[in-house]
Amino acid sequence: MEQQAVLDRGADGTVLDYEAIVIGAGVAGIYQIKRLTDLGMKATVLEAGGDLGGTWYWNRYPGARFDSESYTYGYSWSKELLEEWHWKERFSSQPENYRYLSYVADKFDLRKHMQFNATVRSAHFDDAGSWWTVTLEDGRVFTTRILITGLGLLSAATPPRYPGVDSFKGQSWHTYYWPHEPVELAGKRVAVVGTGATGIQVIADIADKVGTLTVFQRRPNWSAPLHNGPITEEEMADIRSRYDEIFARCAETPGGFEHRPDKRGFYNFTPEERRAFWDELYEQPGFGIWMANFREIFMDEEANAEISAYIADRIRQRVKDPVLAEKLIPKDHGFGVQRVPLETHYFEVYNRDNVRLVDLSETPIECITEHGIRTTGEDFEFDIIVYATGFDAMTGAFDRIDFQGSGGLKLRDKWKDGPVTFLGMQVHGFPNLIMLAGPQSGSASANFPRGIESGVDWTTQLIEHVRAGGHTRFEATEAAEQAWSEHVKDMYSMVLMRNAKSWFTGYNSNVDGHEQGTIRYFVYNGGGPRYVRRLNEVTDRGYDGIEFG
Ligand code: NAP
Repeated sequence: MEQQAVLDRGADGTVLDYEAIVIGAGVAGIYQIKRLTDLGMKATVLEAGGDLGGTWYWNRYPGARFDSESYTYGYSWSKELLEEWHWKERFSSQPENYRYLSYVADKFDLRKHMQFNATVRSAHFDDAGSWWTVTLEDGRVFTTRILITGLGLLSAATPPRYPGVDSFKGQSWHTYYWPHEPVELAGKRVAVVGTGATGIQVIADIADKVGTLTVFQRRPNWSAPLHNGPITEEEMADIRSRYDEIFARCAETPGGFEHRPDKRGFYNFTPEERRAFWDELYEQPGFGIWMANFREIFMDEEANAEISAYIADRIRQRVKDPVLAEKLIPKDHGFGVQRVPLETHYFEVYNRDNVRLVDLSETPIECITEHGIRTTGEDFEFDIIVYATGFDAMTGAFDRIDFQGSGGLKLRDKWKDGPVTFLGMQVHGFPNLIMLAGPQSGSASANFPRGIESGVDWTTQLIEHVRAGGHTRFEATEAAEQAWSEHVKDMYSMVLMRNAKSWFTGYNSNVDGHEQGTIRYFVYNGGGPRYVRRLNEVTDRGYDGIEFG
């Protein structure tokens, strides 16, 4: 086919290995390779893991599960798939999610387009031929016209940098690398360091399975009940009959969930009425208490202080020891300004005799020893240490690959102080590179698959445009990139989240340059609908902001 020849041949006639390479076989990569191969393109996925699944391949820690309603997380693009799949739980767990993604890949015969244990070391753009050379850790080299990243937002795990981490003689790992083999927990002395969404899930899940559990908490997190439950055959039949409606609603909400922000106005209600409303939300499954709350709680200090006081009271009701309860209540940030973890009996865990909380704000960790953890107050001995210490979010996975664009420009250098992008999809200076759920994209701040599908659909359309136009090179202009990055920055000024020390703002004490909490504009806070409108506008205006050559 004449059009294809444009993409799999360099400007100098060199035959390229692929028209498109996708890095990462997670939720984004799986859908993207489906769309590319449907177009008949010569494309492959390079995946570092031993199988597909991304987040759901790696994060095998006990308690790992969705906090999106399962039926809003699944792919929406195949009616047949929607008819066939039965989500067994409202918030499905990691093994089932991994099974789901494998099922999708097998159903559409996508594995043949994927290469596993294929860790990308570098990707260099060739200016003369307008293609990318992709080199793997094992030395293999591939050429491709178009390079698409589906690296994941939270795929560069960051263990702590305490002295002695490697000297521990027991078992120890970051939650992202929880072993694939069963781990014997019964009777073991287990430590968990970190109380983010991951720590909260793992702590709640293992507390009654271990001998003793010691939680090392640097800062407590606001967190609210998940209210998981089974989905019966009848409920699933009802969900199937409403899928169009469900996905349409997700497309209308800022977070891509069914939960819709309440626009009735915080100040139009009395404090008693607000509490009654929150009582209802607190008892509802999922992110209602965060996403279906008054919009003012995200922007207005007073409104935020009131919801925070409400959630604090809930914690006090659930933790028997009042001193301990106070330690579990965040004092440095308000409810909802960091990503809210959802939990199942998390706070009740601290009423158990075998669980102890170590408050690192009082007694910081000094080092990891051969036998356990030394704080300024005490020496602890453990059999297992679990680091639930988070990720070098958004840009970390990019930094780990040596991306070099036009003229040898390094992405790492360009993004030294934070990412700048056009729509979170393209970067000026990096032609023929498209990012799925990249930093600053609207796909990256919500119910991920909903945003990912928009990103993949847009990418596929762009590639069709490139092919149809016989182009060999496309690149975001500097002006378009600047305008988008400024817009992303502006959106931060509206939300209290800008002040929080979390991965949303690029904070991570375990990564050089990220410790100080200098703000990085990682996520697009304008919401899914506005983002998709912007994507469509760009397409409708003939890819305004992208130069083709
Ligand atoms: P996180 O939110 O960044 O939390 C990391 C935790 O480790 C924090 O409590 C942090 O304390 C602590 N920590 C980091 N370095 C430490 C150190 N050197 N010493 C002591 N404590 C340290 O990471 P995460 O819990 O893995 O969650 C990341 C994101 O993944 C979530 O926000 C969410 O988007 C996603 N996630 C989703 C799900 C789900 O969908 N169900 C589940 C899990 C995670 P500080 O607060 O003091 O920094």
